[in-house]
Formats: sequence, structure tokens, C-alpha cells
Amino acid sequence: MQDFLDTSITYLPGVGPKRAELLNKELSIFTYRDLLYYFPYKYIDRTKFYKIAELDPELPFVQLKGSIKGYSTEGRGAGKRLVAEFQDDTGSLKLVWFKGVKWITQSYPPGPDYIVFGKPGIFNGVINIIHPEIEAASKAAERISSALQAQYSTTENLKNHFLASKAISKLIGTLIKQMTFRLPESLPSWMTQKYKLMELHQSLQKIHFPSDPLELERARYRLKFEELFYIQLNLIRFKINRSRKFKGFVFSTVGEKFNNFYFNNLPFRLTEAQKRVMKEIRKDLGSGRQMNRLLQGDVGSGKTLVALMSMLIAIDNGYQACIMAPTEILAAQHFETISKMLDGINVKVRLLTGSSKKSLRKEIGESLLDRSLNILIGTHALIEENVRFDNLGLVIIDEQHRFGVEQRARLWQKSLNPPHILVMTATPIPRTLAMTLYGDLDVSVIDELPPGRVPIKTMHFFDSERNKVFGFLRSQIAEGRQIYIVYPLIKESEKMDYKDLEDGWDTVSRVFPPPEYCISVVHGKMTPAIKDSSMKLFREGKAHFLIATTVIEVGVDIPNATVMVVESAERFGLSQLHQLRGRVGRGADQSYCILMTSGKLSKEAISRIEVMIRTNDGFEIAETDLQLRGPGDIEGTQQSGIPFDLKISSLSKDGQLIEYVRNIAEDILSEDPSIEKSENAVFVKELRRLFSKKQSWSNIS
Ligand code: ADP
Ligand code: MG
Repeated sequence: MQDFLDTSITYLPGVGPKRAELLNKELSIFTYRDLLYYFPYKYIDRTKFYKIAELDPELPFVQLKGSIKGYSTEGRGAGKRLVAEFQDDTGSLKLVWFKGVKWITQSYPPGPDYIVFGKPGIFNGVINIIHPEIEAASKAAERISSALQAQYSTTENLKNHFLASKAISKLIGTLIKQMTFRLPESLPSWMTQKYKLMELHQSLQKIHFPSDPLELERARYRLKFEELFYIQLNLIRFKINRSRKFKGFVFSTVGEKFNNFYFNNLPFRLTEAQKRVMKEIRKDLGSGRQMNRLLQGDVGSGKTLVALMSMLIAIDNGYQACIMAPTEILAAQHFETISKMLDGINVKVRLLTGSSKKSLRKEIGESLLDRSLNILIGTHALIEENVRFDNLGLVIIDEQHRFGVEQRARLWQKSLNPPHILVMTATPIPRTLAMTLYGDLDVSVIDELPPGRVPIKTMHFFDSERNKVFGFLRSQIAEGRQIYIVYPLIKESEKMDYKDLEDGWDTVSRVFPPPEYCISVVHGKMTPAIKDSSMKLFREGKAHFLIATTVIEVGVDIPNATVMVVESAERFGLSQLHQLRGRVGRGADQSYCILMTSGKLSKEAISRIEVMIRTNDGFEIAETDLQLRGPGDIEGTQQSGIPFDLKISSLSKDGQLIEYVRNIAEDILSEDPSIEKSENAVFVKELRRLFSKKQSWSNIS
């Protein structure tokens, strides 16, 4: 039966090579299975009829019943059209066709009752429907067996080749008619019974052709349940296997270096949240099992310090540690702050990035092997190049939002005895997304900001109000503050984006001319050395402005900078805006985030700006972001790093179900950790089918 669903779509009656190619290209439908799992995005209730008098052009698709009084031709040239006067007992409207005129007049003569379906519009003050679906009422009665008609998303190209929603529905109907056998269940029967799930075979039929809303709901529930369940089962299985297979290094003592730092160098008291998280980490490090922990904490909550103290514990126990950051700028900053914090303590720290000099690389390589190097800080260069540690005990991954389970696995594969791993992120991730993206990790949360922080004020200005904004910036500088101005960079290669930045720079330097004012610039196309010196100028308080692309988006920590101006803010996503805003508000002074936009804003852009003004809470922003972007947003899923598509469930809307199935998966694996019980055999088959090809890491288990 497996074979049947793997059949190429070409062989389905009504498809053929040409349509198959289109379906491949436009919708990634290659096999019968792909088509069967191409789920409708909505359903239209065909039992409901509107009356003509009720119509207004704002309504979506409507269904009417009535008769055609007569036809006429209106307009000329390209505007020439066939118009039918359609009426019911409440009024009349116009049906309009620009094409297929002859066929329409012949097929639908005036007289009998018709059912008309389409989107109402308005022309010259009269309600009309352009190119409606139309059908004899007598015939429709027998066809409308299902009240809810599935609607499939399609593309312009497909529509041009007669593969609109209705045609797709028809193909799926053909396929389902061919399924004369029962599709084998993909969940064990004890589960479908216990959790009252509709069978797979029926669910797949009913999701496309539901008879009533209740049945549709049961079909959807079953399919969502299954989809989310297998994701969680896979993650938890991975987590269990890992902890059974890998023994963790035991860091049993808190020693001299940690204490030295804690009692002599720590410039402030830890927040309660930082203390709690340190306890959780210490417990992991002493447990004899490998730590795999996610540390979540909003921007500015003080994660770097937690990282540093964890590394000192590793060093006190004779191990090396490293931190990996997403950008050279952030790696350099970590190097600087950490070196400074360790002033007077005998710990050797080095920075390694893609642009490190050969001589430095050589020195690092040697001191890693002879164990004299304690902490290595760097970018991806750390894992991608031939960096060999002698006794790496702890890896810290900072702000790497795409560093999912797969990339982490690469770290473990580097050695037989994998180091402890701490993943730190401020990108606010909603719980459900975290459960999916980092579902194999234990979680710690810093839910408190260091004391004395003043909430950032966020304001929105249009480009036309720029002079007002400049006046404000001038007053901030007069108070000794520093200012970021950030320009969007959508694609690194786009010249246009750099032009925006350059023009902006010109303007700012005209308004704030040297020598009174000093402006520093950073963008991705600069050499690392120049980037470095620009950052330094700003960090040391010598430059009033830092004009930058999003290279400074994450992690940068310069407490005296109190104003973040985001140019073309409408082009940024919510989590990006929140990250950028997080660059300020790091000291005790009032900070400001100024969102500059053009006058023309989409509805979504306005919502994003409203949310930013309303709240500073990263988690609230994350939830809104997920809601605004919606689950179907491909870029959204890619950005979040989820290595698979969700076909029916939604991370934003199905949070409760995710938790529910996660618990079920945990229970199952705690009773049957290697999935050996015969009643669970189908899990093995499904996990293999779903995950083995895409995720090389699953063979780790
Ligand atoms: P993030 O969590 O965004 O990485 P950082 O680690 O960069 O935050 O910390 C933000 C700022 O807060 C830094 O300047 C840091 O020195 C400071 N900080 C961290 N912990 C505390 C604390 N307990 N009390 C006061 N300031 C702190
Ligand atoms: Mg940070």
C-alpha cells in the first residue's frame, strides 16, 4: 500500500506529464501522497444562500439562487462584455463575462432557476459578479453532497493551465476513488482508541470532502494530532537516546577561578533569575550526564555573565570552553568584555573568526592542544574549520537562531565524548515554537532584567518629520548620549540598500557636521579590521553616531547608547525590531527607539509598529509576530529554523495540542524508550519515513 501512495502523480487519470510537471514545480506535488496531503486552506459553506438584497461588495464569495431575465452586450473593444440580468425575489444584479460569451448564452438560457457563486463587486453603483460559477439548480441539488466545499490554494500559473481550486479538488476526488483498499493506520490502534481519533483513511477522505462541520473537525484533529505527535516523538526520542549514549563530563568543583571572579571581579550583584539559572546549570554540569540546555532571556537580561561563570566552572575542572557567536562584531565584543571581566585572573582567552591572521590561528591551534588556552571565542569558524580542542568541556552557542538540532548534532559528532552545550537566545520564541525547535533541550529562563533599567520609549515618525527627529537627537547628544541609526539590508548584494545607507549618512553628516560631531559607520561589506575600528570608536564614546546595517542587530552591548533610530522600519520583521531596540536601554538612562517609516504603510506594518509602541515584552512580541505572520508563512518557518513543513497544524494556534501530544510522547517513551513493544511497531516505520532522509542526525541514535 505504501507503494500506491508513492506512485508518481503523472499516472493519475486527468494529470499526465504536462500537468504533473506544473504540479511538481508550483506546489511540490510529486506523488499520490503529496496530492492527498495537499490540504484545503478553507471551506465554503454551500448550504447557505444569500438574497440579492443582502449583498454588499465587501462580502467574500456568496451563493445565490434565482433566474436570468435576459442577456445584453455592453462596452466595446477590450471592455466588451456579456451581461445577464439576474434576479431573485428580493432584487436583481448583473452577472458579467468578458470571455466564453457564446458558451454561456447557449448553456444557460433565461427561464429556469440557477445557482450562482462568486465574489460580489460594484460597477457604476450597481452590484455585479464577474465570471461567476453558474449551474442549473436542478443539477446542483444532486452535486452538492457535501455542504462544505474545500478550497485549495493555487498559483496564477496553475490557474492559467486550468488547475484552479476546483480542478485540484477533482483530482483529489479521482485519487480517493482509486483508494479501494484501506490505507494502513499510521498510529497504533491503542492510540486511536484511547485518544478517540478518527482513522487515517477516513480522515484523509473527510478533510477533502467533509459532510458536515463536526466530521471535518474530527478529521482535522486526527491529522494535526498525528503531525505534531511525530515531531515530538522524534525530538524526545533523540533526547533520550543522547542521554543514554553520552556520559557527560563531571564538573564536580567550583574552584579558584570561579571564586576569584565572583568575589573580586563581579561588578554587580546577580539578579535572582541569574542565580537560579546558575544553579540549574551547575546541577547539570555535576550530574554525570551531558548538559543540553537552552537559556532564554530577553535582550539585556545578562546572559553573557551566565555564560562566563559556566565557563569558569569548566576551567576550574580542567576543561576548555568556547563561545560561538553569529557575527564577527558580536564575537569581538564578547572577547573584549570577557577579557576585561577576567582582568587579573589567570585565564587565557582568544578570539577566532574567519578573518583571523595565520599566525594567530597557529598560536590558537597550539595552545588548544597543549591546554594552555582556556576560552576560545569566535564565529562559525569554530566548528567549520579544522579547530581541534584537547579537552573541550563546554560549548556556548549565543544568539544563533538557526542553529537547530541538526547543527548542534554536528558538534557532538566532533568527538566521542561530547561537551556540555548551552544555547543562549533572546530572540523571543513563543513556547510552542521553542518546544518544537528546541524540543530536545532542557530550558532555563531569565525572566528579570538587572535592577535600575528604565523601560525604553518607542515612537513612530514619518520620513516627513525628520527635522523634528534630528532636533531630538541633538538634545540627546548634548546630554552626552550616543545614537544608533540602522538601515535595512534585505539582500547583502543589493546595491540599493547600501545606497540608502550612504544617502542617510550624507544627510546626517550635513546636519551634524564635523568636527563638532563624529559619525562612525559599519556594514557588512567592510573589511573586519575597518568594522572593528568603527565599532571601537563608538564603543569608546568617541563617535556620537553609529550608522549601520543590521550587522549590529544582535548582542551588541554599549550602555551609553540610548537612542536607536530604525530607518524604513516598515521593512523589518517584529522580532528584528525587538532585537534592534534591545541595543538600547542597557544603562540607567531613559532610552528611546525611533521607528522611521514612509507615509505608505501596509496593514501588517502598522500592526507591527503598534505592537512595538505598546510593549517591551519580548514574549508578547513573539506571540504577536507568529500570529501576524501566520503559520503558512514559509519565510517565517525557515527563519525559525524548523527543518520540516507543517501541513495542517499551526505553531501559533495549536499550542495546547502541542503540549498535549508532547506529554503523550514522553509517556510512551518512558515506558518503551527504544520503541521495541510490538504494539508500537508502527512508530518506527513512520519515524523512518518522516525523518530519516531529511535529518542526518537521526542516525546518531
Ligand atoms: P543579553 O542577555 O542581551 O546577552 P548582556 O549579557 O549583554 O545581555 O547584558 C546586558 C548588560 O547588563 C551588560 O552591560 C551587562 O554588563 C549588564 N548586566 C548583566 N547582569 C547584570 C546584573 N546582575 N546587574 C547589573 N547589570 C548587569
Ligand atoms: Mg547577548
